[in-house]
Amino acid sequence: MTPNNLSHSKKCCIFVVYYFHHLVKNIAILGSTGSIGRQALEVIKNNPLNFRVSVLTAYHSADKLIEQAIEFKPDAVVIGCENSYEKVKSALNGSGTRVSAGSEEINNIVEREDIDIVLVALVGFAGLKPVLRALKARRTIALANKESLVVAGELITQLAHENEVTILPVDSEHSAIFQCLAGEKSDSIEKIYLTASGGPFFGKNKLFLENVTVSDALHHPKWEMGQKITVDSASMMNKGLEVIEAKWLFNLDISQIDVIIHPQTIIHSIVQFVDGSLKAQMGLPDMRLPIQFALSYPTRISSPLPRFDFTSQTAFTFSPPDRKNFRNLDLAYFAIRQAGNMPCILNAANEVAVEAFLKGRIRFLQITSVIEQCMEDISYIEKPDFEDLIETNQETKTYAQYLVKSYF
Ligand code: MG
Repeated sequence: MTPNNLSHSKKCCIFVVYYFHHLVKNIAILGSTGSIGRQALEVIKNNPLNFRVSVLTAYHSADKLIEQAIEFKPDAVVIGCENSYEKVKSALNGSGTRVSAGSEEINNIVEREDIDIVLVALVGFAGLKPVLRALKARRTIALANKESLVVAGELITQLAHENEVTILPVDSEHSAIFQCLAGEKSDSIEKIYLTASGGPFFGKNKLFLENVTVSDALHHPKWEMGQKITVDSASMMNKGLEVIEAKWLFNLDISQIDVIIHPQTIIHSIVQFVDGSLKAQMGLPDMRLPIQFALSYPTRISSPLPRFDFTSQTAFTFSPPDRKNFRNLDLAYFAIRQAGNMPCILNAANEVAVEAFLKGRIRFLQITSVIEQCMEDISYIEKPDFEDLIETNQETKTYAQYLVKSYF
């Protein structure tokens, strides 16, 4: 029977299947059990005609990964921690989901041909390798891992350019800039303002900051996020990392990037154009919005999330950041101006210091001391290659751990 012999309804049915098959994007989520990963799954669940889960990966959270795999039926899952392989494998036995284990497998899985978008929601330096592998395999990346751009921005943007890969920002500020730039030419940007909520310690002095606890730092006034980024927000390092991230994502000079405190967190960032015109992107602070925009790009799809109410918010305020008490911001500016492996040193020292703070081993302000000491003492490399960055990351982490012990 040729297609011409098919009844009208059968033709329609084939068309519909064909249409949706080509419209549904296959999403691989690296770090699916973390805050961004879980919210991405919510977005996918709300939009079954637009997205399906093809791969899920987690490092430690085997139980959560199993639960997600049973619900979303991905083609494959990877558990980073090899000790949990048998547990995940037997739980998903007969489900049709392929199970593998190990961090190298997390890096390998991004090369699967059927993946349309790789959402990189890993925390820290660990995000770098899979990003590089996804770029080489020409997979579109939705990037929630700012650390990879901080550490290897030049390498990543160069690879993205060579392989004609789009990097879609998931970070809310960068998604805002990306949305403001739709239809604009890149040479029409004069500068950008990244907005910052100020975090839980906005307006506090040095004496107060000396005595803050872990639970104070984890109590972010506006955003629901993972622990590492929440401490980074409290210390302003998050904004420092975002300045570097923005430089690479939008190909800007560092002098074109400014930070402004906007405690209401409705304006997610602003572009100032060469004619003095400003464009801002606004919305309620909810990571599901930038996640959905990255996954659905270049189209917008509807969402059931709550809408902003103009009658409940009567004022927006802005102020410059407190660079004296929150020195991490300027350390980040210094690191990117120095370039080379300096942002990698900044990032590695911060990862160790934040973990030490979360474990109660150092005080809040000592996070900055650890970073500054590492930036002074670790050997500088002007043009690092990938291996140099791996080495810098390791060397800095070892040294930072030594510093942490000496403070303890
Ligand atoms: Mg952000």
